This record gives sequence, C-alpha cells and structure tokens, in this order.
Amino acid sequence: MGKNLALLTLNKVVKHFDISGGFLDQLRFQGLRPRLEKTRVHALNDVSLTLEKGETLSVVGESGCGKSTLARTVMGLYRPDSGEIYYGKDRIDHLDSGEMLVHRRKMQMIFQDPYASLNPRMTVRQTLEEPLRFHHPSISEGEVQDRVALVMEQVGVNPRWGERYPHEFSGGQRQRVSIARALMVDPEFIVADEPISALDVSIQAQILNLLMEAQEMRGLTYMMITHDLSVVAHISTRVAVMYLGTLCELASAANLFETARHPYTRALLSAIPRLGQKKPAHIKLKGEVPTPIHLPSGCVFHGRCLYANERCRREVPQLLAGGSGVFVACHGVEEGRIS
Ligand code: SF4
Repeated sequence: MGKNLALLTLNKVVKHFDISGGFLDQLRFQGLRPRLEKTRVHALNDVSLTLEKGETLSVVGESGCGKSTLARTVMGLYRPDSGEIYYGKDRIDHLDSGEMLVHRRKMQMIFQDPYASLNPRMTVRQTLEEPLRFHHPSISEGEVQDRVALVMEQVGVNPRWGERYPHEFSGGQRQRVSIARALMVDPEFIVADEPISALDVSIQAQILNLLMEAQEMRGLTYMMITHDLSVVAHISTRVAVMYLGTLCELASAANLFETARHPYTRALLSAIPRLGQKKPAHIKLKGEVPTPIHLPSGCVFHGRCLYANERCRREVPQLLAGGSGVFVACHGVEEGRIS
C-alpha cells in the first residue's frame, strides 16, 4: 500500500463506548445473586488502514457502522481504547490536546451540518480569522485580511460578504464557509464527514467539485465519510467498506465498483440504480444489522450472509491482500467459494 507515501496509518484501532449508566442500570440478577454488568458499544474493532498522500479514501457503510467514529478518532476527538494511529511517522493516538496542536493545523475537519458547525454569533470574517490567528499568533493584520479574502474567493464566497452571519447564507454557501475555515490554515489532510448529505441535491455537485478543485490546487489528502455510493464513485481514489465497526473490504474505487468481492460490499453496490441496467439485481440481505453492543461471533456479517458456513460463525476473518491493491476480510473469498 505504498508505505513510503503514507500520510496516515491506523493499526488495529479499537474504540468502544461505555454506556452502562448508573448503578441501577448496571444491576443484573443471576437467580438471587446481584452483579454489575457493563454495557459497551463496539464502535471500532481492530481497524487497520493506510492513507496515501494526495488520495481520497472514502469510508462507506450503513448508519451505525462506525465510520463517523473512525473520523473522530483519527482527528483526536476520541481516544482509541487500543491500537495505534500515526500521522506520517509520528504516533498521535495518545497525545493530549496540547501535544496534538502541532498536528492540528495540518489536519482539519468538515462536518455534515455547516449550520451547526459554524458559530452563529461570529461573522464569516471572524470565523475565518480565528483558526489563522490561533495557529499563527505572530501573523500581521494585513496578512490575515489578505488570506481571508483569498480563501473566500477560492471557495466561491464573495469577500465583501465577510461581515455577514451564518444565518444570512444558504446551506451551500455555509458549507463553502466551512470549507474555507478548514483551508485557512493550509492543511495537508481533511476529514469530511458526510459533507454534502445535509445539502440540497442541486448544490451537492458544486460542493464536491469545490472539494476536488481544492485538492488539486493544494495537493490535499481526504478521508471522506459517506453513505452515498454514487458520490464515492465520483470522487474516490480508494474505498473502505465498514460493517459493524469492522473493515470488510478496501480497494480502488474502479476495482470495487467493477468486481466487489465481499458479500456485504456486493449487497451495498447492488442497491445503486445504474444507467442502462434493465433490472437492478438487488441483493436482499437476511435480517437486520445486529446491535454493536452484542457483536456476533466470528464474522460480524455471518447472520446476514448467504455464504456463511461454520468457520464464519466461529472465526473472525482477517483483512487479506487479494491482488491489485484489494484487501478483503472474508473466509468465503479466501477459500475460493466467492470469486
Ligand atoms: Fe459471509 Fe463468511 Fe465472508 Fe463473513 S466470512 S462475509 S459470513 S462468507
């Protein structure tokens, strides 16, 4: 996976959330004997992957699969329970907020809802000035104003609107301001968590194009969190498919859309209507997604998989290289039962 060019590396990252609540919530009885039982959401389970410089890695999966937790863990907003995260050669998963500052400038995040992520009491100019002054305290006033005007222009927001507040903008313009805020400090890496899903369909393509232009102009690396597979096909270099906090498949976008191997990826892709396809061969999965509180044994997908066998119910499949940069975690693929 091009180790020399790795910008971000995750090695067996685990993140569980304790939702046990208070004493009474934890109290259980075994016959007459009381005991306390913790309840944990298994949001990320041994996730390993590498992001290469300049690529767009899309992380996809149904709601609750752990993709947003992955984004926040990478950004240092959640501390993993175990595993390692490296930014370049620097290990960052155990850093406190002060130590993380040196990396924070290079790593920025764009959120799903630009209205919620912008401070309603700050003008656009103040919103854009803030990260620049924070990370470069000695910067001159003239440089700040020049940079604000330049970045506003680059994202397609008129620099004369700098004194306006977020509520005076449309959803698309607000997301442009969010992107501008991320770009103000000249980052290398941006995590975008569903950056267009809260926007009107008519402006989603504009925002995607803006992100791609910014990437080309600045050599940015993106981790794009999305559930929208049509977006993935449009923007991604590679795609990571997640199910119940577990990485199922990792492949180039072209490879994944052409020859997905993991049964879950195939089911996801079969749900996208395609031009020229008379009858979309929609693969219907059995049952519901299990709760991440009680993970199934073996392969977390086995309860819904048409190819599950005894080994699948017992043994956790490892993410194995399958040639052409494809990685799949599936016993069926490994055994040649699924091609
Ligand atoms: Fe299906 Fe088994 Fe592969 Fe899991 S490991 S996806 S249950 S075939």
